[in-house]
Amino acid sequence: MDVDITCPHCHQLDGVQSVPAICADGSSTSHDTGSYTGVSIASTGLVPVIGTSTIERSHSTVLARSLASAPAQEPAGRLTGLGLLLLVLPTIVVAIVIIAMFFPPPGTDRTSLVLGATVFVGMISLPGLLVLHSAFQRGRRNARIARGRPRAMAVWGAGWYCHRCYLAFWPYSPIPEIPARRGVTPEQFRWLVWKAGGYLNR
Ligand SMILES: [Zn+2]
Repeated sequence: MDVDITCPHCHQLDGVQSVPAICADGSSTSHDTGSYTGVSIASTGLVPVIGTSTIERSHSTVLARSLASAPAQEPAGRLTGLGLLLLVLPTIVVAIVIIAMFFPPPGTDRTSLVLGATVFVGMISLPGLLVLHSAFQRGRRNARIARGRPRAMAVWGAGWYCHRCYLAFWPYSPIPEIPARRGVTPEQFRWLVWKAGGYLNR
């Protein structure tokens, strides 16, 4: 297959780099001629300065980040551990209440004991349950990312980027939804990749 990897916008090849290559080293530099304006202090006072200079732009991590193949995964294991740890105290309290039910202190009303204990245990379990809930959601999100990864990676790996036009493009359509040879911004690129992976709305 003869693949044309020139930029669809400027039709040049020199500024073109594959997206995996950009993200692999996490940085890329390009040289530009830019103009600058400012003020300088001279013997006569402040003077305006206008000129041109070669600017070395480091698109580094910002570009690599905006072309990321998947959202960052947050491990759920430690959070689960914390949630369980927070439930140790409520469990102990429940055990104490059960013992107290069998051997009630003299003069205690069982109903009010159960009622009070339920409210108290519910209150002290809340932080642990909330932490476990978010650990569960995190795990589900990670699973969704893992499921969509092969498809997203196929789309992402076929992408190219033109440093001259600041546009990403696909020389050919890796999947039908992806337009071939059409320049897209890094944000649009990432949107399309994440959409292919099905993890756009986490
Ligand atoms: Zn270009």
